Amino acid sequence: MSSLQITTGSPDETEALGACIGSLLTPGSFLALKGDLGGGKTCLTRGVVASLAPQSAHLVASPTYAIMNCYHGSTPVYHFDFYRLTGDDDIADLGFEEYFYGDGVCVVEWSERLAELMPADALTLLFEYGEGDRRRITITSAGQKSDTVLELLAEKLRQQKKL
Ligand code: ADP
Ligand code: MG
Repeated sequence: MSSLQITTGSPDETEALGACIGSLLTPGSFLALKGDLGGGKTCLTRGVVASLAPQSAHLVASPTYAIMNCYHGSTPVYHFDFYRLTGDDDIADLGFEEYFYGDGVCVVEWSERLAELMPADALTLLFEYGEGDRRRITITSAGQKSDTVLELLAEKLRQQKKL
């Protein structure tokens, strides 16, 4: 397990970070997004989708009224927003778990609500407000697959002088 922290200064920067992360994901990758409303979770998701299913990126909206949206591209992206769900019972009953270990990339807003359904191998992104339009994003990896993604991300961000 390791982690890195990056501060973005605008929605565009957060979306670009999402695209950068998206380019490193493979089927079975899991992104757990946490933090306050307006933190930038949907914005980052739009970047992930822009990278993996570009024709659909404009459809990634906030707030979402669907609990799950699927975007088809080189790798399918399953975008969940559990804001309105209350507990893991709900989530288990809805049968979402099968997507977590399937053929696509999962991006989950309000992943706090997953409790014990949270996969062991995942990248967790915590969004916190900074001054003005700044958002501090702390990315933590757990598991071998996510550790590798985080290492590659750190390398990319260093190359772009963002880290
Ligand atoms: P969440 O999904 O976490 O509730 P959204 O991505 O829907 O958040 O919304 C983030 C809001 O904050 C948008 O209105 C966006 O324009 C604004 N914003 C301001 N600065 C940033 C930033 N650095 N990164 C992301 N969004 C930002
Ligand atoms: Mg959102």
